[in-house]
Amino acid sequence: MVIAAHPDDADFGPAATAARWIDAGSEGWLVCCTSGDAGADDPDTDPLELAATREQEQRDAAAIVGYAGVTFLHQPDGAVANDLVLREHLVREIRAFRPDAVFATDPEVLFHGDRGVNHVDHRAAGIAAVDAVYPAARNAMAFPWLAREGLAPHRVRRIYLFWPNDANVRVDVVTTIDRKIAALRAHATQIRDPKSLEPRIRAWAAEEGETIGVTAGEAFRLIVIDDDADEAPDEPSGADLGNGGRETTGA
Ligand SMILES: [Zn+2]
Repeated sequence: MVIAAHPDDADFGPAATAARWIDAGSEGWLVCCTSGDAGADDPDTDPLELAATREQEQRDAAAIVGYAGVTFLHQPDGAVANDLVLREHLVREIRAFRPDAVFATDPEVLFHGDRGVNHVDHRAAGIAAVDAVYPAARNAMAFPWLAREGLAPHRVRRIYLFWPNDANVRVDVVTTIDRKIAALRAHATQIRDPKSLEPRIRAWAAEEGETIGVTAGEAFRLIVIDDDADEAPDEPSGADLGNGGRETTGA
């Protein structure tokens, strides 16, 4: 499961890894906290129309990546808050889909190195995802009406944080980088310079793949919450996993 603040975040984020895992048999689900209703330069833009357009762009992109579906939580773009309302929404999604792994924006990134500020919604959606995964999704007494409704507690075992400053895992996405680029092209309202998109994404992927010796990679900070049953508890979890790591886990 990928939890993102805006339509397009998941595609700039872990799209190629998601595509690779889906190709390998995982099932993927995308949750967008907002519908990107503030993502235009003209202040007279109708936010509801923009949201509808961006939801369609994200659905088209999600079909290219291969997700089984997309949920939009309709939080306000630019004002995502890690509050109990959003946490309950996310717990509901996690308990319904029951992912082994959740991808979310790294909430500890305030600045991208020394180049650029991480959007406030990315930080808020990231920490909301982490707080929903642990402990709320696995705790029957968090939002107890959910369990009473039949949404049983669920233990997500891994969190992959995307756009990290300190990556500890890199996934080989040579076979799926084209799908990431195609998915990004679906976000037509957000791509100002379509010609530069592909070289920009390929250069970024090349940089992230370099340490594992591949021409295209995606970098994450992996947090292991629970070991898989067939893993030794002291298995190093921070190694670079050039083969995509534990590919049997769902995303
Ligand atoms: Zn975003």
